[in-house]
Amino acid sequence: MVDPNRIGGFPFRKADPEIRKTNFSEVQQSYSEEEVMQEAERCLLCGTPVCIDACPVLLDVRGMNEAAARRDFKTAYERIRETNSLLGVTARCCPQLQGLCEDACVLKWSGQPIGIGLIQRYIADWERKNRQKPVSIEQETGKKIAVIGAGPAGLAGSALLRRYGHQVTIYERTKNNARNCLKAEFRYDSFKDKT
Ligand code: SF4
Repeated sequence: MVDPNRIGGFPFRKADPEIRKTNFSEVQQSYSEEEVMQEAERCLLCGTPVCIDACPVLLDVRGMNEAAARRDFKTAYERIRETNSLLGVTARCCPQLQGLCEDACVLKWSGQPIGIGLIQRYIADWERKNRQKPVSIEQETGKKIAVIGAGPAGLAGSALLRRYGHQVTIYERTKNNARNCLKAEFRYDSFKDKT
C-alpha cells in the first residue's frame, strides 16, 4: 500500500460535521494558497497529459498546474478559461475521480492522483476575488443562433458560440433558470445584452 501524498484529506478535506450541522456551507473544503501550490507542484507535467484527454472540455490541466505551482494564478485561470466557461461549477461538480481527469492521472498508480478539481476550484475562487478581463470575442460573423435551455450545456455552448462571434439568444422555459442564467458569470458585455 502506497502512502497517500495528496495534500489534504482524500478525496477531499471535509468541514467539521459539528460546524456543518449549524449552517449550509460547503462540505468540501478549499485548499489554502500554500496547499494549492504544493499540490500543483506534485504534477509531473507529463509529455502526454492523459488527464487532458480524459476531460470532456479538454481542460489544460498541465498548464493550470504548472502556473499554480509558481503562484501565477492569473495564468492558471487563463489556462482553464480557454476551454471551460463554468470553471467554478465543474471544479465542484465534475466526478474527477470517476473516469475523468483524476482517474486518468498517472500518479493514481503510485500514490494519489493530483487534486485537479481542488486546484481548479481554488483558481475559480481566486478569480471571483480578483476579477480578470473577459475573454475576447472574435470578429462578428453576423450569424444569429438560438440556444434552447439555460442549463449548463446551454450556457457553456452559448459562451463558446459568442466567443466565435455569433449573436446568441438563450430560450429558457422556466423563470428561475432564466434568472440563474442572467446571474451566470459570463462577463462578455455583448453576450449579456443578448440574454
Ligand atoms: S496526468 Fe497527472 S501528473 Fe500528468 S500532467 Fe496530468 S495531472 Fe499532471
